[in-house]
Amino acid sequence: MSALAQARGERHVQAFRGALLHFLGDPDELGEKAHEYFDDGLLVLRDGKVAAAGAASALLPGLPEGAEVTDYSGKLIMPGFVDTHVHYAQTDIIAAYGEQLLEWLERYTFPVERRFSDAVHAREVADFFLADLLRNGTTTALVFTTVHPQSADAFFSAAAARGLRMIAGKVMMDRNCPESLRDTADSAYTDSKALIEKWHGKDRLLYAVTPRFAPTSTERQLDLAGKLLDEHPGVYLQTHVAENRSEVEWVAGLFPWSRSYLDVYDHFGLLRERAVYAHCIHLDETDRRRMGESGAAMSFCPTSNLFLGSGLFDMDAATRHRVRVGIGTDVGGGTSLSMLRTLDEAYKVAQLRGQRLSPMRAFHLATLGSARSLYLDDRIGNFVAGKEADFIVLDLAATPLLERRMANTTGLVERLFVLMMLGDDRTVFATYIMGRRESARPAR
Ligand SMILES: [Zn+2]
Repeated sequence: MSALAQARGERHVQAFRGALLHFLGDPDELGEKAHEYFDDGLLVLRDGKVAAAGAASALLPGLPEGAEVTDYSGKLIMPGFVDTHVHYAQTDIIAAYGEQLLEWLERYTFPVERRFSDAVHAREVADFFLADLLRNGTTTALVFTTVHPQSADAFFSAAAARGLRMIAGKVMMDRNCPESLRDTADSAYTDSKALIEKWHGKDRLLYAVTPRFAPTSTERQLDLAGKLLDEHPGVYLQTHVAENRSEVEWVAGLFPWSRSYLDVYDHFGLLRERAVYAHCIHLDETDRRRMGESGAAMSFCPTSNLFLGSGLFDMDAATRHRVRVGIGTDVGGGTSLSMLRTLDEAYKVAQLRGQRLSPMRAFHLATLGSARSLYLDDRIGNFVAGKEADFIVLDLAATPLLERRMANTTGLVERLFVLMMLGDDRTVFATYIMGRRESARPAR
């Protein structure tokens, strides 16, 4: 847009033509009405936000003169993926051999997180991580940093430089971890408060109070985490719960008064809206009912749960209790930043449980569903007018096998299923943030 046009107060209009898919609600509740699909669609943006989405034939005539139209015919345009659980500081230990959760933390995670006391190192990893996230088509994530406030600063600065909608927080951890990674209940409170004031609501960034998990926090630290949430409405909470059986037993020993692992968090006022719990595997019906009532969300992390041998998430039980569910990669416990790889494993977890994850439900989960679990569905997750225009362009012929298998499909649902089983980062042709192209694959 020219400086002159800007000076005249004209709006910047962009349009993208291609197959278009987005969700208006959960396919499990709304069936066919849950999604909109246009074979020859047009996504129209005004000043980086969605102005309209629909059939190209209906929308093209209404475009203002001189509006730029980018042609992605033959490709699929979708909202950017939303990752509800990931650790940027674990980028360098993804795919670490041989352990389950507690030993994996000791052997791989804690040593690599120690390096984030160095702000320069933290920024270098944050830049790599965000570039790779965008390359995989993920435009929003809920992110763990490390115990060091500078690791959160580095992540937020890197996200701000790219104009991303990200949620993150400094890890709180004042016991049962190496001395060099330990804060105190009070320092965690003070440092988190300062980070909230600095970053929450700045540009598109939001803050999450981040106790790592109950075993590494004293009761006082968990109590102060609740205090931070009470003092800062709109701030998030992220932590882990009921991932691994040894972990569950450990928590029962550390908090002998608790009814369950989840009950520990509930006791300290941490079960509430905008609280996101990773894993949620070894829960009982009372726990799930409490999650549903409280408005807290579960993050289903299939590649991590399989890789660390943690267990199988029960999607049907979460649905029964009307719990908000998002999907997470959980890198470095998870084995891919790709949401397509993650949906593939989510389908297999459901299979092992005797359940079925339909392609429509899977793609809802990766976009609007995860946005809803983060209480961000009023800003991102679909192409309703006014939403922030973070979107991706998928190439359904990105590999020879994908191209061949797609030629053998009969409809949208089958194409989506093949996409989630065979797709990966190569499938993501371009990623846009507020209408600006941030990541693009070189043409084949
Ligand atoms: Zn995690």
